[in-house]
Amino acid sequence: MSATVFDERRNQIHRKGDTPFDLACDKDSLAGAVSQRACVFCGSRVVLYPIADALHLVHGPIGCAAYTWDIRGALSSGPELHRLSFSTDLRERDIIFGGEDKLYRALIELIDRHAPQAAFVYSTCIVGIIGDDLEGVSRRVEKEKGIPVIPVQSEGFKGNKRAGYHAACRAMFRLTGSGGTSAISAKSINILGDFNLAGELWIIRRYYERMGIEVVANVTGDGRVADLQRAHGAALNVVQCSGSTMDLAKMMQAEYGTPFLRVSYFGVEDMAESLYTVARFFEDLDPEIVSRTRELVKEELESLYPELEKYRSALAGKKAAIYVGGAFKAFSLIKAFRLVGMDVVLVGSQTGTKEDYQELYEITDRGTVIVDDTNPLELSSFLQDRHVDVFVGGVKERPIAYKLGVGFCDHNHERKTVLAGFQGMLNFAKEVHSSVMSPVWRFVPRHTTNSTPGSEEPASVPERLTAAGGA
Ligand code: SF4
Repeated sequence: MSATVFDERRNQIHRKGDTPFDLACDKDSLAGAVSQRACVFCGSRVVLYPIADALHLVHGPIGCAAYTWDIRGALSSGPELHRLSFSTDLRERDIIFGGEDKLYRALIELIDRHAPQAAFVYSTCIVGIIGDDLEGVSRRVEKEKGIPVIPVQSEGFKGNKRAGYHAACRAMFRLTGSGGTSAISAKSINILGDFNLAGELWIIRRYYERMGIEVVANVTGDGRVADLQRAHGAALNVVQCSGSTMDLAKMMQAEYGTPFLRVSYFGVEDMAESLYTVARFFEDLDPEIVSRTRELVKEELESLYPELEKYRSALAGKKAAIYVGGAFKAFSLIKAFRLVGMDVVLVGSQTGTKEDYQELYEITDRGTVIVDDTNPLELSSFLQDRHVDVFVGGVKERPIAYKLGVGFCDHNHERKTVLAGFQGMLNFAKEVHSSVMSPVWRFVPRHTTNSTPGSEEPASVPERLTAAGGA
């Protein structure tokens, strides 16, 4: 490995082909490395807040509540309470004397004003420190107002973003099991791990409906409290994104015996395979379902492939880098880039597990750099050293790419373009093409680095970094 890396993080970075693969992961971020990860609270908020008819109240200082709908655009087909951000705005006095009374008053006022179907109360760092009794206040309000009031134990210091996913799943699990399930079809699923960015969930739902499958609950894009309450009545949980909702699927399997399948809706291969996987699950109940699904896939591909060809010829041989929250999305993106003829030279995630990285290792080409929980310094270095043409990431990766004069494709919650489903693959190719081929790069020359452009092996690590054990 020859790019700029922190000595303490060398075992979280691997270049395929160098040595046997054994990547360290799922650990706390290195102090001082300015990880790209968000905090525990942000992790739980990402998962829960698309539930559109619930009240989302952040118990903490106003700064924690800055994480709003405005930067995470999950769409709703009905109520839009999730678009409003509420905070108890804790001040110095509350920190000294406790914030429970303020929380109680805020909940009562907001429930009276907005009539939500449930309320989620997020704990932030300072609430964990002063020890406000979120459970006690929530129980009291729940009793008085007659709706579920659910504390989300998401103090920011408690771990990494993955701990936030777990807190969100525990909160949602408290809702399941309380709704009626008698009218639910035997051929029914819950869609877990899609957040309905740009309306993607609606596209996926339509695929399943065309296959003859009832969707009971969207977890959590375009989500509803009542659907979650009856989610245990579905025959199957279909889980996208390895990190965010897998814990809920496991809890439901343990409690209600609901089996789950992992899928991905990104890229043609994974989208088709996801539908076939679900079809095969219901084949005993409906022998025609696989052939119906085959027809659906055929129809979609017939219109997609001729369009895709236009971009493929221009993009062949270009280089891509991927850095995403959950590693599962990276699997699909690698296949999507291959479909348009591009090479993935760097891939990584914030919250990948051993199993995720093993799978990444198996599907990547020799020479690909695999990174866990990286930081801007390393990412900048890799992007330059590997001569990347387009970088796929989220809001925190975008400025890194632009500052280096590298094309960028937003594949995170901030985007406004459908990238899931068959249509999404075409949009993805279009977006990558317009970014890579943009004439703007002629006017923004790539920053030169310590490496020699065009050389296979980049130059050595700068002295100042290795000597200090990091920047
Ligand atoms: S780390 Fe703590 S203080 Fe910062 S946003 Fe997260 S919960 Fe709030």
